[in-house]
Amino acid sequence: MPAPPGSADGGHPAPGPLGVVQSLANTLRDGRGGDPLGAREDAAAWLFAAGLLPAGSALSNSDHAALLRLRESLGDFLAARTGGRQDDDAAARLTKALADGRVVVTVESPGTIGLASAARASYSSLVAAVAVAIAESAAAGTWPRLKSCSAGNCGVAFYDGSDSAAATRCAAHADPDHGA
Ligand SMILES: [Zn+2]
Repeated sequence: MPAPPGSADGGHPAPGPLGVVQSLANTLRDGRGGDPLGAREDAAAWLFAAGLLPAGSALSNSDHAALLRLRESLGDFLAARTGGRQDDDAAARLTKALADGRVVVTVESPGTIGLASAARASYSSLVAAVAVAIAESAAAGTWPRLKSCSAGNCGVAFYDGSDSAAATRCAAHADPDHGA
């Protein structure tokens, strides 16, 4: 069952690992009470609750600034995708932000490889978790369906599960043509 329209996932939660990427993109829209990542301590608490940061870990000021840049580039990238535009600047900024994760390929057995972070720092690890979620979603074919609602000031990140994959709006603002 989809969540009710107006919820934090735009009524269309993303499947599997893409969910955490969607949640991160939608932190600006969590309720009306402000930005859960706006203050450094609040951001650490949110990341812990999302399973992205170990208990007791803190963010430095530069980590926090990088986190906000990551979210902003992700939001810009999704908005461009929904609009059918290629935004090379947003893509480059997102690529740069994800590079903090230092994702590497690990050979786990003769037939299995995985993705991991070569970094030890908490911030790098959480960026790696986001980067790996994006990579796994891309492999599963779901990544291109994460979009941001084009209606007015909405912008909520939603998962386009429509047959046509042409939806541009969240459940609350669904346009009948696309059956989102
Ligand atoms: Zn919307």
